This record gives sequence, C-alpha cells and structure tokens, in this order.
Amino acid sequence: MGYKIVLTSDRTMASDYHGNMFFGFSACLPQGVLPDWFYYSVFCPSGSADREGRLIHANYGMRKIEAALLAKGFNRSEVIVAHPDHLNRAISDETKIVSISSNDPLGIGPATSTFVQLWGGEGRMAVKLRELLNKPSIKKFKPTIILGGPGAWQLKVHPEKRKKLGVDFVVVGEGEVTAPKLFKKILDGQFPIPEVIEGEIVRDKDIADIVGGSICGIVEVTRGCSRNCAFCIPSLKKVRSRPLNHILAEVQTNIESGNRGVILHGEDVFQYKSKNLRVNHKAVVELFNRVYHISGVKWVTASHASLSSAMSSPETVKKISKVLELGTDKHPTKAFQVGIETGSPKLIHKHMRGKVYPFKSKEWPDVVRGAFKLLHENHIVSCSTIIMGLPGEDQHDIQQTIDLMKTLKPYQSIIVPLLFTPMETTRLEYAKPLLKKDLSPKHHELISVCWDHNLDWFPALWANYGRDNSLFVKTVIGLLLKLGTEPLRKKVHRNAMKHGANIR
Ligand code: SF4
Repeated sequence: MGYKIVLTSDRTMASDYHGNMFFGFSACLPQGVLPDWFYYSVFCPSGSADREGRLIHANYGMRKIEAALLAKGFNRSEVIVAHPDHLNRAISDETKIVSISSNDPLGIGPATSTFVQLWGGEGRMAVKLRELLNKPSIKKFKPTIILGGPGAWQLKVHPEKRKKLGVDFVVVGEGEVTAPKLFKKILDGQFPIPEVIEGEIVRDKDIADIVGGSICGIVEVTRGCSRNCAFCIPSLKKVRSRPLNHILAEVQTNIESGNRGVILHGEDVFQYKSKNLRVNHKAVVELFNRVYHISGVKWVTASHASLSSAMSSPETVKKISKVLELGTDKHPTKAFQVGIETGSPKLIHKHMRGKVYPFKSKEWPDVVRGAFKLLHENHIVSCSTIIMGLPGEDQHDIQQTIDLMKTLKPYQSIIVPLLFTPMETTRLEYAKPLLKKDLSPKHHELISVCWDHNLDWFPALWANYGRDNSLFVKTVIGLLLKLGTEPLRKKVHRNAMKHGANIR
C-alpha cells in the first residue's frame, strides 16, 4: 500500500543525530571531506521508521506541512512523513505527490559554499537530493515532485537546475497555507499551475500544531526577525510569537513520540513576545519555566539567540540559566547559536545596524564581548559565525575582527568563519562573493585565530556536551580530539603562513 501524498527530505535530514542537533550542521561539510561510513555512523545515523516507512522523528518543517494538510481536511490515511531510505514502502501507484523539504538543494548555501571553497567536493545535501530524486520508486511511479523548505529559493533562481533535477513545483517561503491549496489543485488536475510559488504568509490562528515528533524535540516559538541584516533571508521581516499553549502542546506531542529534550526554535529566543525588539523578560522566563516543567522533559535549550538581546537583558539570561538548572551536574551547559559576523563597527553599521539594537553600531565589539561573558558565566555556550569579505571590508575591518576574536578566548564558545556568499533575494544579492583565491593574508590570520579558539575549547565543550552520548560516539570523538587536535592546529597554521599570514 502507498500514500497519496508523501512528505520526505534528503537523507541528511532523516536523523536524530544521536540527540545532538549540532551534529546536524555537519551536513554542510562537502561529500568526501569525511568518509561516508564515518559521517553516517558518527554524525548522522539513520532516523527510526516504522514498518510503513514513517519517520518517528521528522524535520520540523515537514511536520508543519503535515499538520497543515490534516487541518485542511486531508486524511491521515492519505499523508505520510516518510524516511527517504524507505520510500519503497510509502510510494506506490496511488502516490500522486512527493513533497521534499530541503535546506540546501544545490549546495550553495553560505556554510556549504565556504567549506566547498576551502576543501573542495560537492555539498552533501545536493548529492543526497539527487540520490533521492533517483530512487526507484520515484522513477517508477513518477509522482509530481514539489520542493520547499529553507533552501527552496535556490531552485527559484536556477530554473534550469530545477528542470534538470526533475522538480515540478517550488514553494518559496511559508508553506502552511500554500501547500494544501497546491496539493489540492494537483490532485484535482487544475492545471496550469505556476512552477514557482511564493508561499502565503500564514495567519497566526492558521498555524496548526505538529502531530508527530520532531528531530531532537524542536518546537517553534517565534517566526521571523525584524533586525533586517542585509545578507540574510529570515522567514519573515516581523517577529511572531506562538501562543504558549500551542508550544506546550507541541512539546507534549514530542514527549509522547519518545523525545526527552526540547529545543525552542526561533531566530532569537529572547524575542519571544517582545515589543519593538525589547526583551519581554516575564514572557521569556515563563516560556522556559513552563516547558522545562512538563512531565517527561529532561532538558531544554534554544536554537538561536541574539547577542544584543542577551546584553540588553542580563537578568533574563541569568534567570533562564537558573530555571534550566544549568551549571549543575545534571546540566553542565547548553549551547545557543549566535551571530557575530564582524568585529568592525563600520561594517555592522553598513550592513546590519538592526543587529545591534538597542545598542549603537560603535558599541558592537563591547556588546559581543559582554554577551559572550554573560552567556559563559551562565553556562551557555555561544556557537557563533563570522563572515569574511562583506562588501566594503578592508584590512582594518579584518584586524578589528581578529582583535575581537582574541578577546573572546576566555569564554566557552565556537567561532565558525564563513566566506561571504551573496544569497539571491537579499539586499546583497548582487555583491561580490569572497572566493578562496581572494583570501588575503589577514583573512588567513583570522581563520587561524578562530581555529585556535575552537581547538582550545573543543575538549572541554565535548566533555560536557558529549557525556550522554553512546560509548561508540564518545570513543570516536574522544579519540579524534586526542589525536587530531594538534595536527589540525599545525595544518591550519602552516596553511595560514603559506599565504603570508602573521601567526604568533
Ligand atoms: S539577526 Fe539573524 S535572523 Fe535576524 S536578520 Fe540578522 S542574521 Fe537574519
């Protein structure tokens, strides 16, 4: 038996990542950098599925589309969220639509592009998407193929690649209103339908709660961001907060699916129920408190936070750390993703002054330093990015970033340097990307400073973060850290010096 509508993703998104959501980012490493056996056993083991191929824990975006379809009258017997490796169980001649969620269908997202530039190879997500589209069940039954998700814009701006892949329709943006309408039209044969569809904005009351478990217990708490950075495509330019009772209901669904932890997802968790970018201390604390105290929840963390929000409301950081019992043997630390992007007030002012609000651009290095210290003292690890090669960058800007990175050394954190990659549909879409061949000695110095920072912190971070992992993962990563840290450091230094960087 098959399903009329099959929702799926490429294989890199069909994993629980051993419960470590940060392992999920290893999908940005190009195919070939790590051997497949190593990548899929250590970082991305196959997610569990039932006899029909139904994923037990699925990508949150697919769960939202599933919920929207059911809310719009589709029957549970018509819709399945399927594991990509078990499509043969879900697809049959009854299947009319296969809808794929993808983060980076062409492997041209900023992180993947950086690693492809530096280390060669092809984006793993692009490779796995092609494999998915060539599965025998898809080839045999020829369902209509729809692609959505955060990377859908790539197939909008590269129609020739969309055609070559065999994707019939692309939905860019929110899918909860658009997908049910589109699916219905396809099922009813109401053609022609445009090949690229901009997703309608969903009214708050129309956002349906997920009905199955999500990967690592992710639950959306806010949608959108109003900080308006020139290089970014947030889902919306305005922050919307989900009502607390819906968040709690989704956490409950996750607990029933076997998840024990919760990741509160949004572009900045401190903006939950905020007004004009001012942190709503009471609402944020209540959110963490209520979620953490649901029966069955063992831990809670957040996906993203803004350094400016944290700095503008230190009491909120302190309070949530206390609520979550961080710094105790139970929960030594949790990690949030944060954006530094640059240490240059000039570049911040030029491209992302909203990121600094309520502070001033010239205060940015102090905001970053202060927030890192605050988060560190409250047992929150900052997993951050910087962007090299932003338009208008000069040697002085890079030096300011190097200087800032060096002052972050005492604070538990990871700093990932990325090469600027303009994304279509952003304000910088026509700007020049930074290519590997154009990296200056100062860029190499900055990369080296970041890697020194990371390699210094990895063992201590893993001691906390990895302690609940299986013996296999603990042993492999432990060995890697023990044997690989110093050789990697030397390699990074050698490479930087080869390119004229001043390494001390
Ligand atoms: S603060 Fe983050 S999510 Fe918001 S626009 Fe800037 S980069 Fe995007």
